[in-house]
Amino acid sequence: MIQLSSVNKWYGQFHVLKDINLTVTKGEKIVICGPSGSGKSTLIRCINRLEEHQKGQIVVAGNELTDDLKNIELVRKEVGMCFQHFNLFPHLTVLENCTLAPIWVKKMPQKEAEALAMNYLERVKIPDQADKYPGQLSGGQQQRVAIARSLCMNPQIMLFDEPTSALDPEMVREVLDVMVELAHEGMTMICVTHEMGFARQVADRVIFMDRGEIIEENNPHDFFDNPQSDRTQLFLSQIL
Ligand code: ADP
Ligand code: MG
Repeated sequence: MIQLSSVNKWYGQFHVLKDINLTVTKGEKIVICGPSGSGKSTLIRCINRLEEHQKGQIVVAGNELTDDLKNIELVRKEVGMCFQHFNLFPHLTVLENCTLAPIWVKKMPQKEAEALAMNYLERVKIPDQADKYPGQLSGGQQQRVAIARSLCMNPQIMLFDEPTSALDPEMVREVLDVMVELAHEGMTMICVTHEMGFARQVADRVIFMDRGEIIEENNPHDFFDNPQSDRTQLFLSQIL
């Protein structure tokens, strides 16, 4: 589903991703963790070409990411993304946020798009908020809208970049519950998160990044209970 081979990226002189190799198969769930500034966001943003890499190869759902706009479009069709700060359109209702892309990108008739959106809003347990504006919702509700909105495009892959780190503690669970459900439905997922309970519950692999490199990767059990690298041990001792 996703294949990164010797991927390198620089911001000017700064070498932000160093020889990243990563293969994600269909239905796999990957959790990425690591210190702030280690390149986690950059890495997942490269997977749907919100950032471009300068060296190496990224292939997503059979399409290589290059300057070819057609391929970029094909990849973005297959990849949904949720960010820390929801990025909902404030001037559109919850329902309109969800139907916008299906109507304008997929040319779906409005009624059909609304039915689809309501279906996903039910799955994230907020169908009753459909006519409200994002600003009228709690952070946890807004993040669930953001997830529903992504799912309306029927992606094969979902990328999450610290989806719960801007939330008040009492709202973290409701968002994680939606993500766990999605994982159990077989979605291919890459999640940048420091929610280690979530990682233990759903991850097939946990990847630890530091200073632009993948330092260690393992199944959650061995990753948490028997970390190999000093840097992983130090990081875990700081967050657990
Ligand atoms: P993480 O998500 O692990 O915190 P990021 O991928 O956001 O890390 O950032 C990795 C490094 O790249 C940081 O040092 C950050 O300051 C730098 N960086 C991120 N985005 C840019 C950018 N657009 N231009 C220059 N430097 C950037
Ligand atoms: Mg980040």
